[in-house]
Amino acid sequence: MNDLELLASLESVKDPCFERTLKDLKMLAGASEQDGRWTIQIQLPTHAYLCKEELTAAIKSAVAAAHPEAGDVDVEYSVKVLGKNAGGSIGLNVKNVIAVGSGKGGVGKSTVAAALAYGLQSFGATVGLMDADVYGPSIPHLVGADGEPEVIEKENPDGQKVQRLQPIMADGMPMMSIGFMIPEDQAVIWRGPMLHKLLTQFMQQTDWGELDYLIIDMPPGTGDVAITLSQMVSLAGAVVVCTPQKVALLDAVKAIGMYKQVKIPVLGIVENMSGDIFGRGGAAKKAEELSLAPLGEIPSDPVIREYGDEGQISRLFSEENPAKEPLEKMCAEVAGQIVLNSLDAPSMPSLEIL
Ligand code: ADP
Repeated sequence: MNDLELLASLESVKDPCFERTLKDLKMLAGASEQDGRWTIQIQLPTHAYLCKEELTAAIKSAVAAAHPEAGDVDVEYSVKVLGKNAGGSIGLNVKNVIAVGSGKGGVGKSTVAAALAYGLQSFGATVGLMDADVYGPSIPHLVGADGEPEVIEKENPDGQKVQRLQPIMADGMPMMSIGFMIPEDQAVIWRGPMLHKLLTQFMQQTDWGELDYLIIDMPPGTGDVAITLSQMVSLAGAVVVCTPQKVALLDAVKAIGMYKQVKIPVLGIVENMSGDIFGRGGAAKKAEELSLAPLGEIPSDPVIREYGDEGQISRLFSEENPAKEPLEKMCAEVAGQIVLNSLDAPSMPSLEIL
């Protein structure tokens, strides 16, 4: 038996998280032998993967069945985040741009966006967070970031001088928000062209660096920011956040319709404040009705509100607390849905005119 024969016997093994074969998922990266012991190399398509233990067991039993002579094997994991280099045409070096939206305010959209960003980072991914909720920027408050983004003059590859915005760093994560640029209590009326200019600065003139994921906290409801974004980059998709009760679900359905209209694929629905006075499971049911993925249920938990109010959302992942597990699951569901979408469908064309 050689490495290719060993790997061939694993091609039809189903990944317990994705329920697809290792061959389809392109996860079989190699096999090598040292001192008579084999190691199988598995390349994961995302850091946010929660099935290592089950997959290791499935691989070991498949090897034992097909090649008993191989003996006990080791399984070694590496990660190469799957993505479509969303902003190639505007020089944005991000594999996956994820919009986090909702039908209305107050459902915990910004909290979920920040938690998604820090959760993916805690798994090991490189992540940025962009606050596009221009009508109520709350990311700076949630993550405890302030300051004014610095503008640096740089030379682009053509030798031209260009102004580049430096994102604000908070707990090792680059972020941008209109909240860094205007006083907290100042209301802003946005006209279309101003909004477009601001988003262009955030996406195109900001030194984000190389990212696996850029999470965008969208304004609730309306579609103008979504349209502008979809014209600039090819988004991996939108996560729609809602609370479990009926009225909130109706708003979420409207948001889903809006994303579909502007050709941003909807990754699924996150139910936030689940199990509260609002009930539980409504979003999963609605997702099923709409043939969308349920992306997890986040309980209503004082620790989430507390850490958010204190500007310490990242602590939800660095410390033990009751919300950690459901939040990590939500991150894995979102990242997993992106992987499945990229297997199933060629990337959606970005919108040219609207
Ligand atoms: P939105 O962005 O939808 O307007 P926010 O993220 O600002 O909503 O959240 C609204 C309020 O609800 C905040 O005070 C936040 O701390 C709280 N909150 C959000 N999600 C939860 C949760 N799962 N458990 C407890 N409090 C939450």
